Amino acid sequence: MSAITSNDEPLSHDQFMRYSRHLLMDDIGEEGQQKLSNSRVLIVGLGGLGCPVGLYLAAAGVGQLSLCDPDRVELSNLQRQVLYRDVDSEQYKVSCAERELSLVNPYISVISYPTEISAELIQDYDVVVDCTDNLNARQLINACCQKKKIPLVSASALGWEGQLVAFDFSQNRTLCLNCIVNKDSADPVLNCSNSGVIGPVLGAMGSLQATTVIRILLGFFEQHGEMQRYDGKIGRWMGLTTQADKNCEVCGAA
Ligand SMILES: [Zn+2]
Repeated sequence: MSAITSNDEPLSHDQFMRYSRHLLMDDIGEEGQQKLSNSRVLIVGLGGLGCPVGLYLAAAGVGQLSLCDPDRVELSNLQRQVLYRDVDSEQYKVSCAERELSLVNPYISVISYPTEISAELIQDYDVVVDCTDNLNARQLINACCQKKKIPLVSASALGWEGQLVAFDFSQNRTLCLNCIVNKDSADPVLNCSNSGVIGPVLGAMGSLQATTVIRILLGFFEQHGEMQRYDGKIGRWMGLTTQADKNCEVCGAA
């Protein structure tokens, strides 16, 4: 059974009801909803960030979601990785996520890759969402997206704090994740698995990633290199300025 809306197929009655709160918005409407339905998004990492990203993009009707994560569900994940249940222990995260997201929205297609991210997997997506927690994966995703001109939305969280940065590589612009992570002492690549993290901070950052993806898909995103930081302990958001590194080995020659 395929309930996926293809390019010019009008929305069904059920889809009109399902997406009515989008359709009511002047800057989305049926045309915007069709854009979402025709979009392909890759989510790399189905942990504390990838779970809310997946849930919101599935619910919003993003037509194809590809999920990449080699890990299996562990008990210690359940404090923050809201797609998984007790019974999912030892199952691949992407398999459990695929099941849950398909239940949220049967009109979308969900594809699972229970593997490490590789350059070969990053092809022809409208946006890549980096929800990983290690530097090597981030660097690989950033370099691939920059090379293939795919917009990238990257986030991380540690303790009470979260950080997001987004790039529209669809035009030949310098400034990429590599420019920033090499210098920033509050490095966005720190790993939360051995330092602890507040679950809802991941939820806040994942929601912001999903919002940013929707902005990109609808054509509203203009701030290449936009960075935002959230401190959950004092309840504050901050916008940060980022700068290209002329000597960046990823984008410096762009
Ligand atoms: Zn760079």
